[in-house]
Amino acid sequence: MEYRHVPFITLSEIKPRVWITLSGCNFKCKGCFSPAKGIAGQKMDVDELVSLVKKASLDYYQKLPGEIIITGGEPTLNRSYLLDLVSKLNSSAVIIIETNGYFLDEEYIEELIKVGLSEIMLDLKAYDEGLHRWYTGFPNKTILENARTIHEKINLIIKTVYTPGIIDEVEIEKIARFISDIHPEIEYRINDFKPLKGLSRTPTDLEMENAYSAAKKHLKNVIISRSCRREKTTPKKKSWITVFPDGTMKRRSLKN
Ligand code: SF4
Repeated sequence: MEYRHVPFITLSEIKPRVWITLSGCNFKCKGCFSPAKGIAGQKMDVDELVSLVKKASLDYYQKLPGEIIITGGEPTLNRSYLLDLVSKLNSSAVIIIETNGYFLDEEYIEELIKVGLSEIMLDLKAYDEGLHRWYTGFPNKTILENARTIHEKINLIIKTVYTPGIIDEVEIEKIARFISDIHPEIEYRINDFKPLKGLSRTPTDLEMENAYSAAKKHLKNVIISRSCRREKTTPKKKSWITVFPDGTMKRRSLKN
């Protein structure tokens, strides 16, 4: 029996959309603000996790989710677990993984598609090899190659966190140029950095807008967002529901 540690899953209040957070990550990003970078939460096998997703969704929405995003931490760490999870979640939902892309290769991507994956959201931390290595502890050659492979096979979204003084407008334009060489219509999302432990700061609105303009020179679909990954706009009074492995629910907002 295989397990991953799950700190929580999250339900959107906007529409039946569920995020599954699998804890643990191979990268050592200097600015990581994920509560799931290290091992956190309860050990769950795939059947237990699928039951939690279905029960929480039926209790809250009175129906199964239309979209499920498997995130982390890093969801690809345990290949057989992830394949089993995607396969057992696969009802009629759109299933997406959010990944740093390091462990993927053509065969792994094809296996995921075969069991029902709909889309890959690739976190591209930096284009410059030295910067990527410094920031994450790992090279990015495989990840850049994987971006091309993913685009050939399945819907690809690429995401970068604007981190002032480290991953800024100049680096974001390099990434946008790289993406446009694959295809100029690939969606590119620029999120803002949330400072932790003294590294960098939150970018200003002007910095985010300048990064957007730099990326727009090369790409048709660029989005800047300070909110959660799949929520392009967060209507007032709408937020998210955190569901813990024991099934208890807690409402939260952009502030927490
Ligand atoms: S890949 Fe994501 S979860 Fe892993 S260390 Fe980097 S920011 Fe944190």
